[in-house]
Amino acid sequence: MHEFGLAVSMVDLAVEAARKEGAERIEAIHVEIGALAGVVPEALEFAFGGAREGTMAAHARLEVTYLPAIAYCATCQSEFELDNRFGIAVCPRCDTPSADLRQGREMHVSHLEVT
Ligand SMILES: [Zn+2]
Repeated sequence: MHEFGLAVSMVDLAVEAARKEGAERIEAIHVEIGALAGVVPEALEFAFGGAREGTMAAHARLEVTYLPAIAYCATCQSEFELDNRFGIAVCPRCDTPSADLRQGREMHVSHLEVT
């Protein structure tokens, strides 16, 4: 379960950024997670509940935006959304496999709400 490590680093990052802004409290942490990042949403929520304890994010909400996996087909010169969680991209138009993943593996803090 790598979600705990992930939650801890998200909280760390958020706290560091909030301190730089001179904030006192973090109200919400917004994160973006790709469909292929291998993160189990329930596990992340649970881990976040533990990771935020004793920090200035102790009462913060975790707002997660899940980004769909998107690959690029060179044949059709267009992007398409993957409909599976395994990262196997086959263009729905021309059935050509693609290894050109444009979105889906990212995990990052997009912004914070602080007071
Ligand atoms: Zn195609």
